[in-house]
Amino acid sequence: MKTIQVKDKEFKIYISEESIKKRITETAAAMRLDLADKNPLFIVVLNGAFIFAADLLREIDIPCEIIFIRLSSYEGITSTGKMKNIMGLDKNIEGRTVVIVEDIIDTGLTMKYLCDTLAKSNPAEIRVASLFVKPGKLQTDVKTDYRCFDIDNDFIVGYGLDYDGEGRNLKEIYKVVD
Ligand code: 5GP
Repeated sequence: MKTIQVKDKEFKIYISEESIKKRITETAAAMRLDLADKNPLFIVVLNGAFIFAADLLREIDIPCEIIFIRLSSYEGITSTGKMKNIMGLDKNIEGRTVVIVEDIIDTGLTMKYLCDTLAKSNPAEIRVASLFVKPGKLQTDVKTDYRCFDIDNDFIVGYGLDYDGEGRNLKEIYKVVD
């Protein structure tokens, strides 16, 4: 089995580049159909979603706007659940169809916070697109309208997701070896 080292941890291959690309193409097709006449505002959550967003959004060839926000609350390999300010939200979202593009929903606390905060600005609707969801870790009732993969509870890196700042440039997804 191919394993790699990222900082002090060993990771093994979990999802291939081909599988990621295939699921993103399928998800983009569904989103394209749903959103074609809505002129959506895609809000990409940095840093983790940057590669996912680049691949996904290039396949959704409809009129739309794309902005990037940041709210970092994650250190090491456990979520603190503590939220910081939303940085980069410089658009009026009132009346808009907003689609949040996220890398991974773990406890769902980040997404819940984001949805609740954005809802205060009266968008027409808020949809959520996430590359990964960990159903076994969810602590909130946050809905994910578009998801590529449900995964188990293990910590993953690659394809934009990092471990302590490293591993984002890996083409595949790797999971930590216990
Ligand atoms: P939540 O608030 O849903 O618990 O956490 C969401 C954030 O935690 C994600 O945006 C991501 O930054 C981070 N996260 C959660 N699980 C993982 C994981 O398995 N790997 C990595 N690299 N980040 C994760």
